[in-house]
Amino acid sequence: MNALVFQNFISGPRQSRVHTPRTLREVNELQRAMPHAAVIGGATWIMRAPLRGTPIPADVIALSGVAGLDEIKISDPITFGSMVTLESAARILKGLSDLAALREACVHAATPPLRRMITLGGSVAAADFHASDIVPALLCLDAEIISEESVITEIRLPRSQWVSCHERLTWRSGGEYSVASISLSYDPPTGRVRVALGSIESTPRRWTSVEQAMMAESLTPHTAARVVHAHLAELEPVTSPGIPGSYRLEVLPTVMERAVRRLL
Ligand SMILES: Cc1cc2nc3c(=O)[nH]c(=O)nc-3n(C[C@H](O)[C@H](O)[C@H](O)COP(=O)(O)OP(=O)(O)OC[C@H]3O[C@@H](n4cnc5c(N)ncnc54)[C@H](O)[C@@H]3O)c2cc1C
Repeated sequence: MNALVFQNFISGPRQSRVHTPRTLREVNELQRAMPHAAVIGGATWIMRAPLRGTPIPADVIALSGVAGLDEIKISDPITFGSMVTLESAARILKGLSDLAALREACVHAATPPLRRMITLGGSVAAADFHASDIVPALLCLDAEIISEESVITEIRLPRSQWVSCHERLTWRSGGEYSVASISLSYDPPTGRVRVALGSIESTPRRWTSVEQAMMAESLTPHTAARVVHAHLAELEPVTSPGIPGSYRLEVLPTVMERAVRRLL
């Protein structure tokens, strides 16, 4: 067991006890013995708990030594172990146009050093992170999340003839949370679409009413932006420092327009 020192910029350093199991069975045993303990993937979300006003857990269970969780199986579905980092996932997904939404989300999220740490499993489990790029991408790709007890073990992505993309708007060119993001997947022969939102509401989600409306007419950047505009009243946008919720709604039709323009 090691000690992990967190710098709490508000009230000084704190420590967590770090447990390092080798198998999922050991993880589950530790969880039963310490129900208050948190499992950690890349620890990038947990390490900033003090900045969110949340206490650091006294015990953390690191998944980094658990055999098999960093494996990638290339078949249909493509299966990512939950400890696969954004950088590794992006490398594997290169050139796969049906899964481009996830690759683009992985390539543009956070910064290069962080992308070497952030895991797919941790991204799925950080449910209170409204600006996730990874979750909307997984939603629009119809990903299947596999868990064992409360531990996410795999993310499965079905292959298809669809095309997809992840469009995010930021103030600068990157290295920051997006103001608004849309993950979009599209099946050209049938006109079917899946749309997922990030950075708009408190949790990323599919936007099924917009999907239905987009499928009712032929897809162009202009029609898609118009549909988004007509459905904005359904959304409950979050306000964060410097970004009013109303601004997120204002830019959303343009984000959709750019996404469709790239897909067609
Ligand atoms: C400065 C900064 C900028 C960032 N910018 C972006 C961005 O633009 N876009 C983006 O998508 N992400 C971004 N992130 C990443 C995001 O904020 C989260 O930190 C990330 O999603 C968490 O991944 P992790 O592997 O580090 O998870 P951890 O911090 O290890 O864990 C996060 C949560 O998930 C739980 N958990 C972890 N793994 C598992 C598992 N296998 N099963 C069950 N529960 C689990 C933990 O207990 C914890 O509650 C950024 C992070 C930082 C630090």
